Amino acid sequence: MQRLTTIAEVRRTVGGWRRDGRTIALVPTMGALHQGHARLVAAATQRADTVIVSIFVNPTQFDRPDDLAAYPRDLAADERLLSTLAGAAPIAVFAPSVEEMYPRPPLTHVHLDTLTNSLCGASRPGHFDGVATVVTKLLGIVAPDYAMFGRKDRQQLAVVERLVDDLNLPVTIVGVPTVRDDDGVATSSRNGLLTADQRPAAQGLSRTLLVGLRRVRDAWNQQGVVRAADIAAVMRAHAQDWPGLRLDYAQAVDPATMQPPAAPVSADQRLVLAVAGFVGDVRLIDNVEVGVVDDEDLLEVALT
Ligand code: AMP
Repeated sequence: MQRLTTIAEVRRTVGGWRRDGRTIALVPTMGALHQGHARLVAAATQRADTVIVSIFVNPTQFDRPDDLAAYPRDLAADERLLSTLAGAAPIAVFAPSVEEMYPRPPLTHVHLDTLTNSLCGASRPGHFDGVATVVTKLLGIVAPDYAMFGRKDRQQLAVVERLVDDLNLPVTIVGVPTVRDDDGVATSSRNGLLTADQRPAAQGLSRTLLVGLRRVRDAWNQQGVVRAADIAAVMRAHAQDWPGLRLDYAQAVDPATMQPPAAPVSADQRLVLAVAGFVGDVRLIDNVEVGVVDDEDLLEVALT
């Protein structure tokens, strides 16, 4: 497996792949890789002849300096995990330094309106500007055919899909279902920051989603429609029962806008149930998409 650290090396390597007629998939990550990332890589190897995994803890998307400082980093372990995944497609790692990505303070920032006002965008000022800008840079550096993003970060996926569409970037964005541990907790690099005592509280997020999901289904079965505000209230009430979990938000939103729909939602529409909360100092997020059979099933399988 190749480790690339400079933009010039990436361009040379990817240029060689292109001349050989190979297609390219990019998997952007911040490292501390786990089974969620592995699933993205597997999806990438299914679509493209070559895969490039970027590992970059992007400082501009952190709204809290302590979160940035605590973020787990272990490039050697990441490369070991990736080498066990190398299947059909060769995998290269792009692990640039902060100086390589930001040699001088950028004057250009990618900002999306409205889509970033809610959920994590409301709780973490500037976060999605940092995400949108670094993703745009990575797409410019690698110029992949495909870029893989987890549905676990549902608002991020919506932001990336929209920016690619708005800016006519020549890449196909692929959303990949959420991977969960046996206790239903979505795998996350930040889970490693939890103590064994804190782990049960993390389950509160996926359990809260399950309660919301079932309430949506009940409402659709009984009334044919559901109100987003009612589901949010049910989820908020349930989350309170989890000791050690401090809820940031629980919302039911339209996947296209990431805002709660004002009108009742019928069973032929879709809703994203999204939660975020703190366990100690660790902020965790999770979501489930209702009305898209795949995602609902995954959550139920994980929790039953
Ligand atoms: P991160 O390294 O946390 O920035 O995540 C890199 C990519 O992996 C993002 O597209 C995430 O949505 C995705 N990802 C992280 N955790 C999971 C998970 N449990 N299931 C699926 N995708 C995930």
